Amino acid sequence: MPETPDTPDRQRNTLVVHGGAGAITRKTMTPAVEAQYRIGLERALQAGYRILAAGGHSVDAVMAATMAFEDDFLFNAGKGSVFTHDGMIEMDAAIMDGRSGDAGAVAGVTTVKNPIVAARAVMDRSRHVLLIGDGADRFAALHNSEIVDQAYFFTRHRWDQLQKAREKERVRPDHDDRPASTSAPPSHDRQSDNKFGTVGAVALDCLGNLAAATSTGGLTNKLYGRVGDSAIIGAGTYADNATAAISGTGVGEYFMRALLAYDIAARMKYTKASLSDAVDQAIYCALESKGGEGGVIALDAGGNIKCSFNTKGMYRGYITNDGKPVVQLYKD
Ligand code: ASP
Repeated sequence: MPETPDTPDRQRNTLVVHGGAGAITRKTMTPAVEAQYRIGLERALQAGYRILAAGGHSVDAVMAATMAFEDDFLFNAGKGSVFTHDGMIEMDAAIMDGRSGDAGAVAGVTTVKNPIVAARAVMDRSRHVLLIGDGADRFAALHNSEIVDQAYFFTRHRWDQLQKAREKERVRPDHDDRPASTSAPPSHDRQSDNKFGTVGAVALDCLGNLAAATSTGGLTNKLYGRVGDSAIIGAGTYADNATAAISGTGVGEYFMRALLAYDIAARMKYTKASLSDAVDQAIYCALESKGGEGGVIALDAGGNIKCSFNTKGMYRGYITNDGKPVVQLYKD
């Protein structure tokens, strides 16, 4: 287990969050919508930072930030989750403790109000890492997750998105609908609005411990039973005190094939790359070169922050020991 500095130092407190990447440009954004996203990002930052400022743990901070996003209909997680091809909500989430290496995840949950709480329960209260479907819902209910029915997750904008996607994208479970080349994303890999609204958080606490969390409704119009990278430790979520905490957003299939979050940590571990170089190498060499789109937020134990994406923008923000949230949406 990596060494943990035992003297608490509040100067270390750092939290970074994202609310998804995609075609986010000044041109396509209205001031009213931009203001809503800024409020949502700041709310998540404050929720997590409150815990860090009180001397709390990074795992609690990333969970609190992620829950704030899950309760906000704007983001593709919890309340604002996107619909499957069949008009269902099936959510994925994961959390990882960089100090112990413990991790927990759920995939395809349909009744859990806050999937990140269920992922945390898997980490803390089971001997497993990943639970799926009905079993994950049942386990969450047993361990104090708030249970809701599918109607709770209904939002008009996600429903309309599904109708548009169904018109445009061919999803035929009974046919092979892969593209001819794996370097060209199949049409259903893309969100109908070219935005990936998955949420995530990475944090460093006063003891120098890192943690990461990610939560998502997945991709609009996805096939039943599809699981994305967010729930896969090493793909969309990873944390290790010796390297970095990482949370991703984008076309999950590419993140899973590249094991992107772990790829960043591995570059740091084995090639001694800096956080910044490791993230850029992963985004451009492991993701983009294979046709993947998306971005990551990453944080190392020295408090270095790196957000990188190959989309037009990414909803993101950070807060450090001065307690002032900084929120960014666009590339420049
Ligand atoms: N990565 C998520 C998934 O593929 C989607 C997203 O980032 O919005 O499930």
